[in-house]
Order: sequence, then C-alpha cells, then structure tokens
Amino acid sequence: MAGALRGVVALDGPSGTGKTTAARELAAALGAGYLDTGAMYRVVTLAVLRAGVDPADAEAVAAVARQADVGVATSPQAPTARLDGVDVGAEIRTEEVNRAVSAVSAVSEVRGLLVAEQRRIITDAVATAGGIVVDGRDIGTVVVPDAGLKVYLHASADVRARRRSAQDSARGRESTPSQARTSVQRRDRLDSTRADSPLRAADDAVPLDTSDL
Ligand code: C5P
Repeated sequence: MAGALRGVVALDGPSGTGKTTAARELAAALGAGYLDTGAMYRVVTLAVLRAGVDPADAEAVAAVARQADVGVATSPQAPTARLDGVDVGAEIRTEEVNRAVSAVSAVSEVRGLLVAEQRRIITDAVATAGGIVVDGRDIGTVVVPDAGLKVYLHASADVRARRRSAQDSARGRESTPSQARTSVQRRDRLDSTRADSPLRAADDAVPLDTSDL
C-alpha cells in the first residue's frame, strides 16, 4: 500500500550524525521504505574478511564482491542484511568490519555493483510503497542525484564519538569516546578523500546539524 511519501529522500553525512535513526523514523512515519546503503558495503566487507582477502587488494575485493549475494530488506521496522541468504545483522557491526569497510567501499567495481543494486531497490520501492528514505554517503550526489529532498547531516566530532561509543557499549563492546573518536574520524577521512564518489554534500542538499538533537 502506498504511504505518504512520493519519491526519494536522500540522507547523507559522516558516521554518528544520526542518519540511520532519522531515516528509519522518517520512513516509518511516512509509510515509506528505508534503505541502509552502508549495510550493503558492510556485507561485502564481511565477505572479503571471511574470504581472507586483503581489503587493500582492489582486484581480489572486486572478485569477492562479484560472487557475494548481498540482500537488504527495506522495512524501516526490520531492516535486515543478508550475505548469501544468511542474516548477518550483528556480524557487519564489528570493529573488524569498521576498520576494513572504507577500503572496500573505495573500490570502483564494488561501488558500481552496489549502486546498480541500490537503484533497482529504490525504483522498486517507489513503485510499490510510493517512496523511500535512503541513507548513505553518496545518495544525493551519485545514487539518486534527482532525489526530491536531500539532507546532509553533520554533528561535532565529540558528539559523534560519544554516540558511537554508546552504540558500541549497547552491543556489548568496550569502547571509550576517545577510541570511538579515532575510529570514526579515520573512516570519515578515508570516505571523504577516496577518488570514486567521496562523501560530500550535494550542492542542493539542506544542511542539518544534529549535535544538539
Ligand atoms: O553508514 P555506515 O557507517 O554503516 O557505512 C559504512 C561504510 O560504508 C562507510 O564508512 C563508507 O565507507 C561506506 N559507504 C559508502 N557509501 C554509502 C554508504 C556507506 O561508501 N552510500
């Protein structure tokens, strides 16, 4: 059944700015679909690590990506992530995946495969639910440059580190705000400086500072 949203809302920004929380709640409130594109890069990264491949070896990473069956569900209530049909929702949130995901997502062939799949999912959701909220790094710039609404979320480094540390603790993983800050800043630096589709705000994105939200 079609919800209240028509078309695509693109939410981009660095880690810890609240994209996932905002996107899921917005999608649920509007009866729209929700797509977590970061989960797709995480699933490929998990496949790379399981294959024992060096995340810096672009050719080997691309070969794993071509073989991997990456599945994501677009329900904002239950956004599952699957690798070869098996739920890997917990496995894609480990520190090992956090460390490797930026190298994997910098590989152009990986991006080509996932962007094509993302566009297919988005077209499907617009046809069935009427609209979809998509969260990522390059949604407004590359994946859906004609999205009806683009929001670029940002927040202070301290706030982002505190949020990430709290999320880690909730998952039963020890992480101080200072460790989380180092990890988040490293990932943002790599994501913003890669050659293919770097993290940046689209010229027509609405900036939103979530530090105090
Ligand atoms: O959003 P999340 O933190 O789960 O994303 C994990 C990683 O996936 C990012 O740090 C980035 O390297 C990559 N990513 C990307 N493009 C997207 C979404 C995520 O390169 N659209």
